[in-house]
Amino acid sequence: MTETAARIDAATRTIRFAGGGTLDYDYLVYAVGSGQARIPDGALTISTLAGSAQARRAVEALEPGQHVAVVGGGLTAIETAAETAHRHRHLRVSLHAADVPAPRVSAGARRGLARSLRRAGVEQRNGTPVPSSGDPRVGLDADVVLWCAGFSVPDLAAASGLPVDGAGRLVVDPALQVPGQPRIYGAGDAAAIAGPDFAYLRMSCAAAMPMGADAAGNILRDMDGEARIRHDSGFGGQCVSLGRSDGMVQFVRADDSPVRFHLHGRLAAVQKEIICRMTLRWIRGEAKRSGAYTWPKGPRMRTTTAEQGQAPAWS
Ligand SMILES: Cc1cc2nc3c(=O)[nH]c(=O)nc-3n(C[C@H](O)[C@H](O)[C@H](O)COP(=O)(O)OP(=O)(O)OC[C@H]3O[C@@H](n4cnc5c(N)ncnc54)[C@H](O)[C@@H]3O)c2cc1C
Repeated sequence: MTETAARIDAATRTIRFAGGGTLDYDYLVYAVGSGQARIPDGALTISTLAGSAQARRAVEALEPGQHVAVVGGGLTAIETAAETAHRHRHLRVSLHAADVPAPRVSAGARRGLARSLRRAGVEQRNGTPVPSSGDPRVGLDADVVLWCAGFSVPDLAAASGLPVDGAGRLVVDPALQVPGQPRIYGAGDAAAIAGPDFAYLRMSCAAAMPMGADAAGNILRDMDGEARIRHDSGFGGQCVSLGRSDGMVQFVRADDSPVRFHLHGRLAAVQKEIICRMTLRWIRGEAKRSGAYTWPKGPRMRTTTAEQGQAPAWS
């Protein structure tokens, strides 16, 4: 069944769909992900399947010498610019970051990224924010603008009266359960675990998958009358593909802070490809055998539950 949820009524344990139907639930996992924040008229997004298909058609229709501008300074924008430049050598490709590009990687890794972008022929324009009002194709003198300037989350939780943080993410406790709503769990980009201990969990596939697995595991524990566990996951690296034979892997501590070690070039491209394939393999493996998927542990917690002012709901 494919439907868009329009409201969650926690009191009656019912989901109301945009098409008019309803669905009762015993437990709910809120995992509606993230998408592009508002995109200016005239720009295209690659954050959805339909959006990226449209962007691909627009880029493929360009004549030699025409200009693709990529707006954003994160790894998604960098990957998009490098891949576009490698695949469409006959086009002009530029990257427009409001600030320092790839701010979360080490300075050495950032220099390597800049070298890769130069080799790919990407013009780098850093430090000038592109206005989000008006058609950005005009100001950037571009034929196609790919808008990769950050993600935002759907407003379903807020619209349903559930607790949200400043970014609109559903607030959950360390067992991934909504405080005061024992039948609702949250996972992935659209959920945030309350408290400073979990602030390191950035929106990513690497965080969403372990959160989803723990939310499902805790629902099963709850149904069996067992104690729920506290979520525990950490990062191993940040990696991007920069064309078929170039890439960057920044190794990180469990809390996502970069270490000095980073890889570039063909070896990094292969590493990134392996991770993409492994992601699908992990999902398929878990579907075949529950518990098959495992992940790295998170950093040591700095505060105790009592210091966070929360009841130990997961014990
Ligand atoms: C171009 C691109 C490259 C990326 N590269 C990486 C990477 O290399 N590494 C990495 O770790 N992360 C990467 N990410 C981020 C990663 O894809 C997300 O962090 C991850 O998919 C989040 O998982 P999720 O399950 O929370 O949400 P999603 O995977 O976004 O899934 C949410 C689902 O909920 C559905 N949905 C939304 N609203 C409703 C509603 N109201 N009713 C019903 N269904 C709804 C959506 O249609 C979607 O199917 C990338 C993202 C993009 C866009």
